[in-house]
Amino acid sequence: MTPAIKIIDLKKSYDDTVALKGINVTINDGSFFGLLGPNGAGKTTTINILTGLVNKDSGHTQVFGMDTEKDYRYTRSKIGISAQEFSQDWFFNLEQLLFFQAGYFGIRKKDAKHKVDELFLRLGLEEKRNSRLRQLSGGMKRRFQIAKALVHDPQIIILDEPTAGVDVELRHELWEYFKELHNDGKTILLTTHYIEEAEKLCDMVSIINNGEVMTKGSPKELMDSQGKSGITIHLSESNTNLKKFLKGFTYTQEDTRLHFTIRDPEGVLPNIIQCLAKAGSHISSIETSRSSLEDVFLSLTGKGINE
Ligand code: ADP
Repeated sequence: MTPAIKIIDLKKSYDDTVALKGINVTINDGSFFGLLGPNGAGKTTTINILTGLVNKDSGHTQVFGMDTEKDYRYTRSKIGISAQEFSQDWFFNLEQLLFFQAGYFGIRKKDAKHKVDELFLRLGLEEKRNSRLRQLSGGMKRRFQIAKALVHDPQIIILDEPTAGVDVELRHELWEYFKELHNDGKTILLTTHYIEEAEKLCDMVSIINNGEVMTKGSPKELMDSQGKSGITIHLSESNTNLKKFLKGFTYTQEDTRLHFTIRDPEGVLPNIIQCLAKAGSHISSIETSRSSLEDVFLSLTGKGINE
């Protein structure tokens, strides 16, 4: 299947700042893809090249197999982008702005009306239809950005740091909405420096740092590769007879404390509990630990993602 987005050896410098050193990314149609990296990693430059806002130095960017420069109109029409910076359209109300945006993609007002109504409702902006952008709170502006990205019903949605600076409650609401869009079959490219956002939402992640892709994979694969995941179980009494019941598990025992090194703690836990029950042991407490994408970033770069 032709990927939704393909980025091949993409390079870009601004004067003497090398922003992209040869980025390769393939995003399958229907994927929820995360470009995770600290500020200055090159995320916005990458998506600005994809959408024609910034010129590349070399490399290729394709949308559904078409070159984003040669076939700009086609490729741009497939993408809706919620940019990091708020637009500065102070003179028109929100409804007018959404109709203009639809018009930019050749959709007439009467054909856009249904989508516009749906977006105002879904994003909780119905009462603000006739307001100007400057009258909105930060969170509302953020939601409006997203409505603008969706008004021409694009197959690919690019969300550039969509929850930067929003409060926790709105962040969770937006996450739910993004999941719905993904469940509807949309391809989503999310840039973020929030570890939790990438872990919770994305099925594939490229970790980017200093204009380079450091690693890629599903969050689970990447986290499992760190080998820090495990289960610690405390028994109510020591049992020296466990070995034959726990065959096949990698674990250490110190008196009543058992520690299992396991890639998928939640998946294996029921099995372990069963084996311990067969051995006649009672459990007094269980703790599971998982490596995070922060651990992955740390082991690749030697620093935390938001340091
Ligand atoms: P991110 O989105 O990951 O925070 P950016 O793509 O915005 O990263 O930036 C990558 C690098 O390019 C940074 O070092 C940034 O300072 C630099 N940069 C981005 N835009 C410009 C610009 N218009 N002029 C000069 N340098 C820029």
